[in-house]
Amino acid sequence: MAAHNTSALMRIQVGSLSNGVHTYQFQAASDDLGLPGNFSRPVSVDVTLDKQGSQMLLRATVSTEASFLCDRCLSDFSGPLAQEYHMYYVSDPEETERFDQAEVQVLSPSLSAIDIAEDVRQTLLLAVPLKLLCSETCRGLCPTCGVNRNVASCDCDARLPDSRWDALRKLNNDSSTQ
Ligand SMILES: [Zn+2]
Ligand SMILES: [Zn+2]
Repeated sequence: MAAHNTSALMRIQVGSLSNGVHTYQFQAASDDLGLPGNFSRPVSVDVTLDKQGSQMLLRATVSTEASFLCDRCLSDFSGPLAQEYHMYYVSDPEETERFDQAEVQVLSPSLSAIDIAEDVRQTLLLAVPLKLLCSETCRGLCPTCGVNRNVASCDCDARLPDSRWDALRKLNNDSSTQ
């Protein structure tokens, strides 16, 4: 069994599924899902699949934990990631026109199973926030000496205002002489 072959990891048998709501739970190692190394914890998925005739609506909640570098203080931190997604499955390609193309897949009527591992992987990659902060109140690094202000202090702050005032004074002088 290949380590990064995600097929059969999160497979739902749909061949003889009855109409109505069905629920599933999956768990897989983040490694087996092909996620990057900062995803170190197992991935859990709760699925609700609603089948109505030739159409199915899948709703999934994906959750795990990952570690990141803080944008402000450059420290490692880890935190939970959770994201929901939904996907429509239809049998007729023409039916896809009624949906957002990112939210619909065509299933051949002869297909006996769907595998959601790739959708789960994509969902987690998109769930990573654009701004990564170890804490909302992270004080970051001192731009002058580089000390991590969350764990230490420095006296650079005391000197900074002086240079700012100098620049402002110069501006004022320049404009008053015009
Ligand atoms: Zn930080
Ligand atoms: Zn400093």
